[in-house]
Amino acid sequence: MNRHLLSIDDLEVSDIEDIFTTAAEMHDVQKRSVKKLPALRGRTVINLFFEDSTRTRSSFEIAGKWLSADVINLSAKGSSASKGESLRDTVLTVTAMGIDGLVVRHGASGAAEQISRWVDVPVINAGDGTHEHPTQALLDGYTLTRRLGTLEGKHVAIVGDLTHSRVFRSNVKSLVKLGATVTVVAPPTLMPAGVADWSKEAGFATSYDLDPVLPEADAVMMLRVQRERMSGGFFPTAREYTVGYGLTRDRLSLLKPGTPILHPGPMNRGLEISADAADAIDSAVLDQVSAGVAVRMSVLYHLLTGEPQGNEGVGE
Ligand code: ASP
Repeated sequence: MNRHLLSIDDLEVSDIEDIFTTAAEMHDVQKRSVKKLPALRGRTVINLFFEDSTRTRSSFEIAGKWLSADVINLSAKGSSASKGESLRDTVLTVTAMGIDGLVVRHGASGAAEQISRWVDVPVINAGDGTHEHPTQALLDGYTLTRRLGTLEGKHVAIVGDLTHSRVFRSNVKSLVKLGATVTVVAPPTLMPAGVADWSKEAGFATSYDLDPVLPEADAVMMLRVQRERMSGGFFPTAREYTVGYGLTRDRLSLLKPGTPILHPGPMNRGLEISADAADAIDSAVLDQVSAGVAVRMSVLYHLLTGEPQGNEGVGE
């Protein structure tokens, strides 16, 4: 496994499988009353977040703590970055304190990779602009594998604001690596430029039309409409978006029974996903959150200890 996790490109299929195997062991820890493993005792991880986050930051914090690491959260708002300190100075300052790993979220695509060149500890990309969010894709793949048994030959539909989605970019790569067939669906204005060439190269399909895709899907992943990254009008009205691309109550009947519904959160209920879909019996949204802790424990464990997966390394 690479020293850093910046992109799904850093992982071989066998690395992803190892991460899932260890995550399954870590997942069992969540069911215990005492949720502590000694694997990262004495190590310090900094969560350096320049963008808002609920799930990702808290799950990395819980993951580190359950592995007995010391975890420090730094957000741009409360740090010297808000006083004009450069990214490089901020990063060099925190790493000079003798930390063992850095989890970074930043609004600029490529920021995590840039940071990895400045420091000599493992860097985990927790979302860089519209580029990648590898641990989200891993937790999605893990959730789907548990629901579907395998991803080999399964058809996953990814629907929504693809242009602004790092979740889509990481997921397409990992799902295809794991043997799934992927169709991405968006209105023309939210279909990223250059997707035609990329989809041919990477082996996924694109569509502007949601209804014919849903009955064919073994899983459907809805993406948030990311208004904060939009500079202009990408669709006329919210209502029009929902009519064309929302997972509405009516559209639920197009899905095969038992089709898992995923959303990375935060959800815009009533826009890209109806309450009926978000709370449906087949909704995997909360499973994704719980898998997020297990998968991040696994990633921290692999990158910070450099150990192959297995019981003996994880400890009791
Ligand atoms: N939470 C995910 C991310 O950070 C998805 C989203 O924000 O819509 O990319």
